[in-house]
Amino acid sequence: MSSLEFETRQNATPVAVAEREALLANLGFGRTFTDHMVSISYSDGKGWYDARLEPYAPLRMDPATAVLHYAQSVFEGLKAYRAPDGGVVMFRPDANAARFVRSAERMAMPPLPPELFLHSLRVLIEQDRDWVPGSGESSLYLRPIQYASEVYLGVRPALEYQFLVLASPVGAVFAGGAKPCSIWLAREYNRSGPGGTGAAKCGGNYASSLLAQAEAMRHGCEQVVFLDATEHRHFEELGGMNVFFVLGDTLVTPPLTDTILPGITRDSVITLARRRGLTVEERSYSIDEFRSDAASGALTEMFACGTAAVITPIARLLSADGEIVVGDGGSGRVTTSLRSTLLDIQYGRAEDEFGWVQ
Ligand code: PMP
Repeated sequence: MSSLEFETRQNATPVAVAEREALLANLGFGRTFTDHMVSISYSDGKGWYDARLEPYAPLRMDPATAVLHYAQSVFEGLKAYRAPDGGVVMFRPDANAARFVRSAERMAMPPLPPELFLHSLRVLIEQDRDWVPGSGESSLYLRPIQYASEVYLGVRPALEYQFLVLASPVGAVFAGGAKPCSIWLAREYNRSGPGGTGAAKCGGNYASSLLAQAEAMRHGCEQVVFLDATEHRHFEELGGMNVFFVLGDTLVTPPLTDTILPGITRDSVITLARRRGLTVEERSYSIDEFRSDAASGALTEMFACGTAAVITPIARLLSADGEIVVGDGGSGRVTTSLRSTLLDIQYGRAEDEFGWVQ
């Protein structure tokens, strides 16, 4: 399947070099796209077919396309980095390929073979490598998606799908890098529940988190953190990041259940922390424990992690009950050091003893 021949159609009007350089010098997140994209089709009869590298362009869609109605879609997010030698590297893309398969299966979609996923990323990066930025914490964000493209209004798994990969040069997500952020505790809304789709990277999970995110922003917070949907006692994760609590030399993070997205950064942090002799406990951590650990000083740091923002210190938790400051309200020692270790590996600046960089 990975041998599926790619038909290449070069963009006849690529962005001019000077314009590209200007865009790369002033990056935000997710608004600028490279000259090309990958597209592969699927039908129940043919399997995966018609692999193309083609000019980035708007799609034409029938209004009755299934994904527009029933949200049968999954996506991934990973980055390509400019290494010190000028080469381009990806961080653990095989883990994204595997999660893409699991997400697709949860949404009753045919899984894309991981080799084809990885090959698609390489083909696109090779073509648009001049778009990989080289400064600071910038990178080329890769966004594979798969959606139901069948034109049909019946409610059942579609028989036709489209896989696309887009690429977008991005700067640091939170300007200021590791600046401590505030998070809002969602009381009224849940992100996911047992038996739901929380562990899948499907579009609907994000739509359902937006109201809570908007509430967080109204309260001056950058992100929202969700509790478990059953008891409303234990921390789960943020709208788009996993969460860690630092108690001295021990890191605590909620265990992976079907309600939490298994973050690749989360997994990498666990490995790096254990490697440097810290204890990592994957266990439930309740809001009551949080309150008493913050009051006693046992809770020294807290951070969120994910591909987009790497590792971000959390300085305060806000809720309708008031504000709780974590540690000294700054960027803690453990958080800062894990962050720089991870970035050094991702950018090819440090030894990659785990074989994460490709
Ligand atoms: N949780 C959610 C809900 C997310 O959207 C993300 C971002 N993919 C993460 C956690 C972190 O996952 P990763 O480290 O693989 O980016």
